[in-house]
Amino acid sequence: MTFRALLAAASGLSLAACSTLATTPAPDAPDGPPPARTLAPIAASHEGPGADWRQIADAEITARLNRPQREGQARNVILFVADGMSLATITASRILDGQQRGETGEENYLPFEEWGHSALIKTYNENAQVADSAGTATALLTGVKSHIGAISVYARQTLDSCGPDADVPMTTLEAAESRGLSTGIVSTARITHATPATAYAHVPLRDWEVDAVLPEAAVAAGCTDIASQLIATLDGPYGDGPELVLGGGRAAFLTADAGGQRQDGRDLTSEWVAAGGSYVEDAAGLRALPLDAPRPLGLFSRSHMAYEHDRIDAEEPSVEEMTRFAVERLSRDEDGFFLLVESGRVDHAHHGSNAHRALTDALAFSRAVEAAAEMTDPDETLILVTADHGHVFSIAGYPRRGNPILGLVHPPAPDLTDDPTPPSPAQDGRPYTTLGYYTGPHQRPEEGALTQEQALDPDYRQESAVPMGSETHSGEDVIAFARGPWAHLVDGTMEQNTLNRIITFAYGWPGNTPPETGADAAAD
Ligand SMILES: [Zn+2]
Repeated sequence: MTFRALLAAASGLSLAACSTLATTPAPDAPDGPPPARTLAPIAASHEGPGADWRQIADAEITARLNRPQREGQARNVILFVADGMSLATITASRILDGQQRGETGEENYLPFEEWGHSALIKTYNENAQVADSAGTATALLTGVKSHIGAISVYARQTLDSCGPDADVPMTTLEAAESRGLSTGIVSTARITHATPATAYAHVPLRDWEVDAVLPEAAVAAGCTDIASQLIATLDGPYGDGPELVLGGGRAAFLTADAGGQRQDGRDLTSEWVAAGGSYVEDAAGLRALPLDAPRPLGLFSRSHMAYEHDRIDAEEPSVEEMTRFAVERLSRDEDGFFLLVESGRVDHAHHGSNAHRALTDALAFSRAVEAAAEMTDPDETLILVTADHGHVFSIAGYPRRGNPILGLVHPPAPDLTDDPTPPSPAQDGRPYTTLGYYTGPHQRPEEGALTQEQALDPDYRQESAVPMGSETHSGEDVIAFARGPWAHLVDGTMEQNTLNRIITFAYGWPGNTPPETGADAAAD
């Protein structure tokens, strides 16, 4: 098979015909990036007795030798979060990506996997071994771990987090706003859902997305719903609110008369427009917006946006399209920008134990990351790519090389040929799929043999060991990938909230508090 350029990210670098590293001498000048070390090209093979494993390995080493460590100040930061994108999700997605191009798949890399700087991330919440998206997003957006369900409040804060004088952790978006940067939020989930909400809202419980669900005690304590807090940022203490918000979740912004859920009679989309913003609710509206349209708010669905598998392009933009739109607009601010991009529905597909939609949403996320990387300069833009938590999703059995990742387990041929093999039987004599879940809504039926056609159906729900109405998150580490200024700080095994502090550090900010409130004293 044709080897897909392993080192596309490292310019001038290709695979060597020899198994030793060819290098050029280092110049005397101490400044600037290290000299490029180049290898002569070959077409490397990943298959059979003649596979070029040593050359492939040498090229991977060379890429690492040539990896720059950028220590300048970041003008822009883009935080990409794929909700629920566990390590197994990344592995299965890269295999599916390769297989969709007719390759065996295992040798593939997703583009951000080739950036090089990466770390294992400890996801636990302050009060939970296995985390939820709210507590983890609070760690990513504020730099402090909090309780399960928390939206940018301190751990175990309850009604004391409400009201204008409450002491709550500042978010990176608020800190960026306070410094005059442009900010943006993109999500395929409801824009009031856990991850995007932590960028701009402060409530002790993630469910308070709309006023209709706020308990009386919360209202009495001065708590406000998440949707109204987004509008309040336009006239808030930290700046003039995000320059761009694209996602789902229209219902929390509209009254019941207009098809929404609000009980306070407010049409928050009209309030956004009255404050000088632009509002669109379909892909055509987004595409028709002039480049200088002020403060676009796009709410493309009542609740979450469609899975990539089900998305109708005339109705809803892809996460890649929203990301391109956001980077293009925000890049016009010479002061720099902060952008949060969430692919929110990898998580939802996993909860339904539907691997097909989880993987295709993860690949849509990967394309969005790739677009942002193309559109930005790594010398001035730090890009972080991570997940908030994992899922109990596994890649199991002993499938043969190139076995369809969503299909039944077919083992390697015992005689080491490429001849077809029948599916591997489980102890009950029936076939099973490579992908599965520990918890979830679909158990192995009492009888009947699963067919390859059934397993490859995009609607197929993989089997789970423990019956649950919804598959659960997992507690193992996730991965963070980084490119740009100070990306090399993303290294080893780290606490999740450290990623937020790396953002602050890369921007050159003394802390996640505005300069006028004494943060200078905390400068290092
Ligand atoms: Zn979840």
